[in-house]
Amino acid sequence: MNTVKKVVRIYEKGSSHWVGDGFPVRNLIPSSGLEGEIDPFLMLDYAGPAQFEASERPHGVGEHPHRGFETVTIAYQGSVEHRDSSGNEGTIHPGDVQWMTAGSGVVHEEMHERAFAKTGGVFEMIQLWVNLPRSHKLTAPRYQTIKGADIPKVAIGDQAYARIIAGELNGKTGPAQTFTPVYLIDVGIESGEASLKIPAGYNTAIFLLKGRVRINDTLVDGEAKMALLDKTVETISLVGEAESRLLVMAGKPIAEPVASYGPFVMNSKQELIQAVDDYQAGRMGHLSKRA
Ligand code: MN
Repeated sequence: MNTVKKVVRIYEKGSSHWVGDGFPVRNLIPSSGLEGEIDPFLMLDYAGPAQFEASERPHGVGEHPHRGFETVTIAYQGSVEHRDSSGNEGTIHPGDVQWMTAGSGVVHEEMHERAFAKTGGVFEMIQLWVNLPRSHKLTAPRYQTIKGADIPKVAIGDQAYARIIAGELNGKTGPAQTFTPVYLIDVGIESGEASLKIPAGYNTAIFLLKGRVRINDTLVDGEAKMALLDKTVETISLVGEAESRLLVMAGKPIAEPVASYGPFVMNSKQELIQAVDDYQAGRMGHLSKRA
């Protein structure tokens, strides 16, 4: 009988593209082919690491809408400024996470922080889209700015740590509030063995930003690789063969129909038509002019 999770398959990036002029991304969900197997996660873009020259005008992506899911932004290098049609705004720095519930709809912009743009530097972040269940697709928009200092960090090996953004590990609970059970864990391994537990039955994947790690007995090596794990057992066994940075994501499957069109993810085509109509009629609001 297996006691540790096996790697089912390793996925490579599908498309590479720019989001606005600020985010040169490698897309791992869904363009790699990884899609329903990782329900409730809908999309993963890995931006950078990329060098930006100093600029008076911050790079980024201007006004655009979302409805029906959550966007989770994890800053690794460089800082991101965000503001939206409901008047919310915030900045996240390396180590911080922004967990935005688009719910019934927001219009927002995501830009490099002005101070970062002025000096330039290396920019690196991940944006993950987490689906909402039918019962909460039209919930009120919500923002959680999660500071790095508020993310519990636990040892998962002699030379390995886990920062718990969402979920529970070694008796510590991550600060992110979620609508369905979700685990999101930032893992760093210098070398050697590490292990962590995810509830059996959850869809689970590990994104390797960079490094060389053995997951159970499968070697995952290089940059921007996604390993889909089996969901029948709890324990993930890792062996770092080089310094590695990983993002572990897991969730209880929502298992509802998914209908998506650009920035809208609903359960039916009819609801997508309604979303486009609501956005075009201004019912998701607009941004005020930039200060
Ligand atoms: Mn957005």
